[in-house]
Amino acid sequence: MTLPAHWTHHPQKMLAFKAGDRVEDIDTNSTPGFDGVKSDAPVQQRERNERFAELQEMLHANGRRGDHRSVLLVLQGMDTAGKGGIVEHVVGAGNPMGIRYTSFGVPTPEERRHHYLWRIRKALPTGGQVGVFDRSHYEDVLVVRVHNLVPPDVWGPRYDEINAFEKELTEAGTSIVKVAMFISLEEQKQRLSDRLENPDKHWKYDPGDLDDRALWPQYRQAYQDMLDKTSTDHAPWYVVPADKKWYSRLAVTELLIETLKSLKLSWPPADFDVEAEKKRLSSA
Ligand code: ADP
Repeated sequence: MTLPAHWTHHPQKMLAFKAGDRVEDIDTNSTPGFDGVKSDAPVQQRERNERFAELQEMLHANGRRGDHRSVLLVLQGMDTAGKGGIVEHVVGAGNPMGIRYTSFGVPTPEERRHHYLWRIRKALPTGGQVGVFDRSHYEDVLVVRVHNLVPPDVWGPRYDEINAFEKELTEAGTSIVKVAMFISLEEQKQRLSDRLENPDKHWKYDPGDLDDRALWPQYRQAYQDMLDKTSTDHAPWYVVPADKKWYSRLAVTELLIETLKSLKLSWPPADFDVEAEKKRLSSA
């Protein structure tokens, strides 16, 4: 398998969470497996976006022919980690007809009346789709745990439950790509400050985000437990350093491309006689 330009190691291998990895040791400013620099990124991103778009459309085309397989990208990260940028600049390169995007915020009153996986199940991709979860069921072991929204005996069993849920999904044909994006506290401060300085970014600013900064150590522990307990063979976590937006976008693009390639897709053959149709068209 050849590596794309500037990659010295396979992003999947480089970024996969390994038992014993510590969240506090993540160098959020690093570019694991990539020896290029920021000025290399625009051209490379454009090229790899094209590759992603081609594979994603192929998945969509196969889905239209009844292929039940799908891909689910799960994005987790603290506020300003760049989840929105991945959606816009990576997934946004694809064909919207085959993409199913869902963001998960504070549960609505209706959602609260159901099991926490209820809203997740409703948003799953169907055959041929690339589903994107901007936040996900993992909020139910992150924000919910850190803010004590439910007691430990309620969130504690969720790790096993999530593993079983994801196993069921993968067995039903969904390849799950779980991406945890990590930025430093200083980088977050800079990004929040940018949001405050720019009126066109005020819509992204939430005063509550500042409260979560004070809970950074608790979040770090919750992320550690999440990675330790839910990085499985069927649905591994990828840890993506995200202080450099250009790197995190390139990295997630490669993770998606690798996943789509592993499906060994090809364009669905015509289910009609092409030559006969050409003749019919020429005299139509
Ligand atoms: P974002 O902050 O990603 O732009 P929103 O403005 O919709 O998106 O807010 C998401 C907020 O909802 C986050 O603060 C997140 O922690 C919170 N949230 C998501 N899921 C849950 C949940 N299950 N329980 C409580 N809060 C949640």
